[in-house]
Amino acid sequence: MSTILDIDHLNKTFDTPQGPVQALRSIKLQVKRGEFVTIIGPSGCGKSTLLKIIAGLDTAHNGQVLLENLQVDRPSIDKGFIFQEHRLFPWLTVEKNIAADLSIKQPEVRKKVDELVGIVRLQGFEKAYPRELSGGMSQRVAIARALLRNPKVLLLDEPFGALDAFTRSHMQEVLLDIWRQNQTTMILVTHDIDEAVYLANRVVIMDARPGTIRKIVPVDLPYPRKKSSTAFQEYRRLVLNEFERVEELELIDSSGI
Ligand code: ADP
Ligand code: MG
Repeated sequence: MSTILDIDHLNKTFDTPQGPVQALRSIKLQVKRGEFVTIIGPSGCGKSTLLKIIAGLDTAHNGQVLLENLQVDRPSIDKGFIFQEHRLFPWLTVEKNIAADLSIKQPEVRKKVDELVGIVRLQGFEKAYPRELSGGMSQRVAIARALLRNPKVLLLDEPFGALDAFTRSHMQEVLLDIWRQNQTTMILVTHDIDEAVYLANRVVIMDARPGTIRKIVPVDLPYPRKKSSTAFQEYRRLVLNEFERVEELELIDSSGI
């Protein structure tokens, strides 16, 4: 598989009234086309900052961030971004939220929207408004909206963090379906070790202060995976063991950032 994203010598410092804060130090990460990478680490280790840099939402940094060999210097539709909160337009229906700035009246947009409604399992809710949807459904609309643009990479920043365990697990299946069907490269940030191991080809484990990559764990298990299997539990333990300090674990479990 070829490399789609190539990050090297990436450093990011925020200037704050209290002085400079180094958020990321010497980040090096290569992601292959079609790969599913999850990123896990304690609160404040720079996960969101890293994702925003990949998205082109933050360009004030040093280092190389190449998407298909081109330096990322601005946001674009080929880099889909899903936030923890869905950020839908409250005054638009589900189908119009998915189409967003494209006209739903265009036959090819209409066709793609209908197809995506099916993929994210929202049939029957095309004309509903965001206020009538649950958290999981809203997040599926946001994912469909990003997919309509055929992104080269889908960046998800704790997309299921606000959902209950049952909905979260359902959303993981939906995301894996989408990944299988579209072969979109996925980079997902999570606080949840099970989620990180369940979804990923590789789990990137980060450290805080300053944000660095501590370890990358390849998860060599076929899909669909079984969370209760011995092999799964072994990978889970492998990742868990990296967070040997209790306070780090608390940060991972309790943070809503
Ligand atoms: P995470 O997503 O892993 O919780 P963030 O990427 O949000 O971490 O933040 C990494 C570090 O950078 C933290 O120390 C945070 O306080 C700091 N930081 C993030 N955004 C800003 C900002 N806009 N201004 C100043 N500091 C920031
Ligand atoms: Mg964050």
